[in-house]
Amino acid sequence: MHSRKKHAFHQRLLQWYRLSGRRDLPWRHTTDPYAIYLSEVMLQQTQVKTVLERYYFPFLKRFPDLQTLADAPAQEVLKLWEGLGYYSRALNLHKAAQTCAPRLPDSYDGLIALPGIGQNTAHAILAFAYHQPVAILEANVKRVMHRIFALEAPTPAMLWARAAELLDTQHPYDYNQAMMDLGAMICTPKQPDCTQCPANSICLGKDAPHSYPAKTAAKFIPTRYKRIVVLQDLAGRYFIMPREARFLNGLYGFIEQERGLEVVEWQGECYPLGKHNYLGHITQSYSHFTLDAHVHLVMIAQHHNSDGWQSFAEIATLPLSRADSKVLNLLLDRLGLGQE
Ligand code: SF4
Repeated sequence: MHSRKKHAFHQRLLQWYRLSGRRDLPWRHTTDPYAIYLSEVMLQQTQVKTVLERYYFPFLKRFPDLQTLADAPAQEVLKLWEGLGYYSRALNLHKAAQTCAPRLPDSYDGLIALPGIGQNTAHAILAFAYHQPVAILEANVKRVMHRIFALEAPTPAMLWARAAELLDTQHPYDYNQAMMDLGAMICTPKQPDCTQCPANSICLGKDAPHSYPAKTAAKFIPTRYKRIVVLQDLAGRYFIMPREARFLNGLYGFIEQERGLEVVEWQGECYPLGKHNYLGHITQSYSHFTLDAHVHLVMIAQHHNSDGWQSFAEIATLPLSRADSKVLNLLLDRLGLGQE
C-alpha cells in the first residue's frame, strides 16, 4: 500500500478512535503489564461485558500482582475463574506467574516462552504494556484485515504479514486498540457500516464485505449422553474429586459415566441408577460437544472421612465446571425439598 494512503488512513483511524473508541475500558487506563496481560487472557474467548461484570476486578483485587498470583494455590485461582470457561487459561496464567514473577518479560522471546501465550497475546502485551511497534490479530482485527485486503482464505503467515504492513509504527498502542474497536463497533460480522468506516478509502472488500473471510462449513457439534452420580454417605458428605484430564483440568467434578451404565460401582458394590434416585437433568454446551446428563443421587450406607468426601458447604467453595455447578443446584433443590 502506498505510504501516503496508509498515513491518511492512520490519521482517520486515530481521529475516529479518539471520538468513538471504547477508551473507558479499565485495561486502557493502566500501565501495569500484569493487569494488561490478565485482560488479554480473559478476553481471549470471552466478551468484554462478561469480563468486566464479573471477573477482571475481583481477580485483580485478590491477586494484585504476579507474585501474589504465583504464590496462590491453583485451586483458588480456578475458583475466581469459575464460569469463565477455558480453564486452561487460568492454569497457564498461574504457571506463567510462577515462571516469571515478579516481572513480565518485555521481549517477544521472553513472552512466547511462557505457557498459554501465543503470538497474538505476546504482541498485545508488547504493544499495550511496552508500546512496541507490533500488530495484533485478535478475532475482530482478523475480520477487518480479511476485508481491508479482500482475503478469502489466507494462511496465518499471510495475515500476519498484512497486519505488519498496515501497522502504524508511530502509534502502536492507539492503532491496535482502534483496530479492535473498529472490528467490534463498525466492521461487525453481520452489519459492517462501511459508510462510517475510517478504513473505507483503503478497503478492497467493502463492495462485498460478507465474502471475507470465506465462509467455512458449520462445525458439527456432537452430544455426549452421560450419567452424573452424586454419592452421599451417612454423614451427609458427597464424593467429588479434582479432574485430571486435560479438559476442565483442576476443576472438581462428580462421578461421570456413560448413559448406558445403569449401575454405579463403589468399593465393590453395585448401586442401581433409576427413577428412585433420579435428581434431574442438565445440559451444558462446550466448544466441541454438548453434554446431556441424567443426574442421580446415590446413598452409601457408610461414613467416609477420606479424600474426596466433602460437605455441601465445602463443595460450594471448590472450583466447579458449569455442569457441576448445575448438579450442585439440583442437589440444593433436593435438600430444600427435603427440609419442607
Ligand atoms: S469499509 Fe466496510 S468492510 Fe471495509 S473495513 Fe470498513 S466496515 Fe469493514
